[in-house]
Amino acid sequence: MDWNALGREAVQLLSEYLRIDTTNPPGNEDRATTFLSRILSEEGIDCQVYESAPGRSNLYARLEGDGSKRPVVLLSHSDVVPADSAYWTVDPFGGVVRDGYVWGRGALDMKNMGIAELVVFLALHRNRFPLKRDVIFLVTADEEAGGSAGARWITHNRPELVSDAEFLINESGKGRLENGKAVYSIDITEKSPCWIRLVARGEPGHGSRPKPHSAVNRLIRALNAIMKFTPPVKVTDAAACYFEGIAHLQKDGYRKRFERIRESVRDRGFLADLLRNQHHAAMLRNTISITMLQGSDKINIIPQAATAELDCRLLPGERPEDFVRELKRVVDDDRIEMETILNFGNSSSPFDSLLVDAVREVVSRYHADVEVVPNMLSGFTDSHYFRDLGIHCYGFMPFLLVDDDLRRIHGNDERISVENMERGPRMLYEVIEKLCG
Ligand SMILES: [Zn+2]
Repeated sequence: MDWNALGREAVQLLSEYLRIDTTNPPGNEDRATTFLSRILSEEGIDCQVYESAPGRSNLYARLEGDGSKRPVVLLSHSDVVPADSAYWTVDPFGGVVRDGYVWGRGALDMKNMGIAELVVFLALHRNRFPLKRDVIFLVTADEEAGGSAGARWITHNRPELVSDAEFLINESGKGRLENGKAVYSIDITEKSPCWIRLVARGEPGHGSRPKPHSAVNRLIRALNAIMKFTPPVKVTDAAACYFEGIAHLQKDGYRKRFERIRESVRDRGFLADLLRNQHHAAMLRNTISITMLQGSDKINIIPQAATAELDCRLLPGERPEDFVRELKRVVDDDRIEMETILNFGNSSSPFDSLLVDAVREVVSRYHADVEVVPNMLSGFTDSHYFRDLGIHCYGFMPFLLVDDDLRRIHGNDERISVENMERGPRMLYEVIEKLCG
C-alpha cells in the first residue's frame, strides 16, 4: 500500500469536504452526502442516502466480510457548528491548506475523522482486504443539535442497518502529549444530560409595591439552595477503570491511590486535591450548571412566572427521577415546578475489548512511549443512540493533538496538522486490519 499517496489523498479530500458548508442550523447535510456518495460511486461502492428531513440526509455504505465476526461501524457526523469568519484568520469554509495545517470549521469536529474513515473504507475496498466482519461507513446529520435528524433518526427508523454490529468507532477520544509521552484516550462512556426547567409562579404586580413571595424571589431562593448543594462523590465502574488506567502516569505517591480510587476518595485531603481537576471532578459526581434565567421583561412589572434552566450531567447508571427527587428536596418548595426537558441514558462499553487491544497495538508502532487509557466524556456524542442498540461504542480518533489544537474545537481557526491527517488514516486502517482480519 502506498501510504504516502493515501495520506495525500486524505488531505485533499478533507480540504474539499471543509469547503462544503454544513453549518447546523440549518445543516444542509445533503451537500455532504452528495459529495461522499460521488466519491464512493466513483470507486464502485454502493451506498444509500436516507433523507430524514428536507436538506438533511444520512449516508450508509457497507463492505461485506465473510460473516465470521459481527460488523464494525465507522461513524461520523457531517454537520458543524457555526463559524464567525470575522474572528478567523482564514475563510472557515475555504478548505485552506497552509503552514502545515488544513484549516476550516470541522477540521477537528469531525470532518477530519469522517475523511479518515472514508479513506480507510476506500483502501479496504481497493485492496480487496479479506474482511472477517462487515465494515459499515455511516455519516449522520444533526449531531451538533442532538441528532434527531441524524443518529436518532437512523437508530429509530432503520435500526436494522447497524443493529448486528459489535463495535462502533466515533469521535472525541484522541491522542495527546503529556510530559513528552503520547497518551491516547478512548471514550468508553459519556455522562448523560438531564436538562431541567424550573418555573416559579407568584402574584404579579407593580414593581413599586414589592411582594416577598414573588415568582422571581421564589426562584432566586430555589437557585440559591441549588448552588449550595454539592452532589455526593460516587465512583462508578467506568471512573474506577479510568483512574486505574491512568494510575501509572501519576507521580509516585498517587499511583497506588489512583489504582484504589474507591478507598482513596475517603481521604478528604486527597479528594479535595483530585476535585481541583475539573475533568476528574466531572467524572466523580453529577453536576449542575445554572445557565438560563428569565424574569420579567419590564423593569417595573413583577412577573407572574420566572424560569431558570439547569444543565445537569449525570454519571452513567444514575436514574434521572432520583436526581430530580433529590433536587426537589434541596429546593424544598413545592410551588417550584421542575420539568425535565432533555434526558437519555448512556451505558458503558468495556475497556477490555478487541478494539481497545487493536488500538493499543497499533499506536505502539508509532510511538516508543505510549499509553492507551479509558475515558468518560463529560459531554455527549451520538454514541448513546448506538449503545442503546447494544453496540460497543468507542470514541477514538487516530490523531495526536496538542492543547493549542483542542481549544479551537467549536472556536476560531479550527485546524488539523497535515502530518496528523496523513498519518491518521494509516493508523485507523491498521486498527481495522487487526479487528477485521
Ligand atoms: Zn462532533
